[in-house]
Amino acid sequence: MSRMRHEGPVIVGAGLAGLSAALEAARAGARVLVVTPEPLLSGCSSAWAQGGMAAALTAVDSAELHAKDTLAAGAGLVEPGAAQALTEAGRETVEWLAAQGAPFDRDADGGFVVSLEAAHSVARVARVGGDGAGRAILSAVVAAVRAETMIEVWEDARLKGLSQDEAGRVVGAVVERGGRPVEITATAVVLATGGAGGLFAATTTPSA
Ligand SMILES: Cc1cc2nc3c(=O)[nH]c(=O)nc-3n(C[C@H](O)[C@H](O)[C@H](O)COP(=O)(O)OP(=O)(O)OC[C@H]3O[C@@H](n4cnc5c(N)ncnc54)[C@H](O)[C@@H]3O)c2cc1C
Repeated sequence: MSRMRHEGPVIVGAGLAGLSAALEAARAGARVLVVTPEPLLSGCSSAWAQGGMAAALTAVDSAELHAKDTLAAGAGLVEPGAAQALTEAGRETVEWLAAQGAPFDRDADGGFVVSLEAAHSVARVARVGGDGAGRAILSAVVAAVRAETMIEVWEDARLKGLSQDEAGRVVGAVVERGGRPVEITATAVVLATGGAGGLFAATTTPSA
């Protein structure tokens, strides 16, 4: 096994979660290594997302109402703290993605166009040109990542394990690249591999 030291965080996964984390870390001054087994825009749910992003974006809506609808729709499966955290971050997240160039649909006043979907009690799904929202949003984030000199992306490396020190603390990642194992020690390892859909017997998410 070959070994290398990366002076910065290693981010595993190149969907919206991993690439957003990479951009934020790089802009904070870190040298970032992203590892993913397939070329950017492939092998991730983010590129397959269709409808848009739910967030409290209008005057008749609020993060509290969005959290309440989420808890009701989850019928006992939703963690209230998680619903609160996610709904509170909704508006700033959509605005952050728009600032990266994600081409959200806009109304005549420049506000986000939102539609009413599923169990939401008010219109709150920000749309991006039909049913290709995920690819459009991710494409903007990929372009921002490609333009960021502090981010290196390995598009042919799959995580195989985590390296730990004697106290059990994670100190690096073991990836397979070109059929060979590489151990990368780093200042932090961020897991952004998605995959929750794989917990279910039937899923529409990518097999990776
Ligand atoms: C068909 C479909 C429609 C959807 N529609 C919507 C929608 O309208 N609105 C909405 O909000 N959400 C929607 N979603 C859900 C949304 O796409 C996901 O919640 C979101 O994209 C997850 O992003 P992520 O970055 O966490 O994961 P992903 O985008 O799946 O990224 C995971 C990354 O990790 C990589 N990876 C996995 N295993 C390894 C490994 N061992 N080593 C290295 N890298 C690895 C993958 O290759 C990928 O790059 C939809 C999902 C699907 C499948």
